[in-house]
Amino acid sequence: LTKELKALRHLPAETTDGYQVPLYLNTGLVSESRPLGIEESAGVGLYRTELPFLVRDSFPGEAAQMANYRQVLELFAPRPVTIRTLDIGGDKPLPYFPMKEGNPFLGWRGVRITLDHPEIFLAQVRAILRAAVGLDNLQLLLPMISTITELEDALQLIHRAHDELREEGYQVWMPPVGVMIEVPAAVYLIDSLARRVDFLSVGTNDLTQYLLAVDRNNPHVAELYDEFHPAVLRALMQIVSGARVHGREVSVCGEMAGDPLAIFLLLGMGVHSLSMGAGSLLRVKRVIRSISRTRAREMLQTALQCEDGASVRRLLLGELESMG
Ligand code: PEP
Ligand code: MG
Repeated sequence: LTKELKALRHLPAETTDGYQVPLYLNTGLVSESRPLGIEESAGVGLYRTELPFLVRDSFPGEAAQMANYRQVLELFAPRPVTIRTLDIGGDKPLPYFPMKEGNPFLGWRGVRITLDHPEIFLAQVRAILRAAVGLDNLQLLLPMISTITELEDALQLIHRAHDELREEGYQVWMPPVGVMIEVPAAVYLIDSLARRVDFLSVGTNDLTQYLLAVDRNNPHVAELYDEFHPAVLRALMQIVSGARVHGREVSVCGEMAGDPLAIFLLLGMGVHSLSMGAGSLLRVKRVIRSISRTRAREMLQTALQCEDGASVRRLLLGELESMG
């Protein structure tokens, strides 16, 4: 880290015209977030829960999961920790849970698996709710939602886990629940989704992959994968305005949130917070601290006139360079 970046550690992520943009961490194993002092983030915007499932040879039980979630909740308390329910499938198959599919990214993945196996979902949600007893910083996030039925089924299971734990005598509480907006269908359902949840988190990695029909891990089409593609920008605009109607906050937790170039656009749109890998935090903070929201809005308007991602990128690079 350069001296200049280090100096930003304890300064707020605030634009030159006084607009605050909380910066959260994406993490998956608690140890990963220790090196970069946890104080510089506003909390955890995306806790990926797949890792403990991937490193074992069978499903971790409720107690083992609970210990894991407790650790991260305590480490960041009182700052919010957004724990995402299991998002296996796609590029993260479990060795002990056979899935042979021709198109795994279009297949059994995320809530599609856990709603077909409510015992897996319930065990995880019970572990998460129990881990938060005595704390107040938990938020729950649902991956890969593409229908309202999925959301309602998941909400029903969460309430069931909560009620059963209460009956068993645990002092659990209902956390805010949010959905990942990462399937194009969810963009068009934004009104119905926003109405039913407490917050929205945009997974630009999957949203880009699915909007552009480009496998995010396939080198042959890597050049077509572009978060600045006008279709992605328009989808983001639609998400933010749909959420606004219901007064819901929108966070972006895909790689885009950690890209200094994207900050102009996300700020201009009025995204409320950003969540990124620890390595991006200070670089993003530096950009936020050197621009105004007014300028970001202007940049966004110009970017929306562009007809391809390369032009958007050129525009943003020019702006970043002119800032020095
Ligand atoms: C995303 O899709 O942008 C995201 C944050 O989730 P993941 O990368 O874990 O699929
Ligand atoms: Mg995703």
